[in-house]
Amino acid sequence: MIALYPGSFDPLTLGHVDIVRRFSPFFSHFILLVAQSHGKDSFFSVEERKDIVNSVFKRSKNILVDSYNGLTMEYARKKKVDIILRGLRAVSDFEREVAIANVNKVLYPKIETLIASACPEYSFISSRIVKEVAFNGGDLRNLVPKPVERALVSKLKWLQGDKT
Ligand code: ADP
Repeated sequence: MIALYPGSFDPLTLGHVDIVRRFSPFFSHFILLVAQSHGKDSFFSVEERKDIVNSVFKRSKNILVDSYNGLTMEYARKKKVDIILRGLRAVSDFEREVAIANVNKVLYPKIETLIASACPEYSFISSRIVKEVAFNGGDLRNLVPKPVERALVSKLKWLQGDKT
């Protein structure tokens, strides 16, 4: 079975990592798809996000990292994906995720969506909160994996003019 976990991952957080670690063992192929953030200005480019995710999961043989500019479901169809995996942090995510799952079910009836609930200890983490903490020089250790922390610090330094 092939699973697809799509998202902006701008940046990857411990919440995302938790979902990947809990669910990837159930699938022969687990594709983490870095999508363009529609309507959102991204902090990291798609290539940067993909590189960071790759460095976090490089030892996991069934995890593949890719990016795509078009409709996620078209990518899923082309790659013969069986399951789309999404995460649910709070009730506030519910309406949007179910609406997307329902649209996708009508357009692509053969592909199922699985909505996984976040672990309580990670349910408060979002990429947006991570960026706010990073912009204000806060401690990122309990929010993101090490490679993400390093990438955030170095990109912020670079943006602040220390382009070494
Ligand atoms: P998008 O911009 O498509 O929502 P995100 O990168 O924000 O992409 O998230 C990708 C997926 O991971 C979404 O399904 C989101 O609900 C889920 N997710 C985000 N943060 C967490 C978390 N802390 N725990 C579990 N799932 C999460």
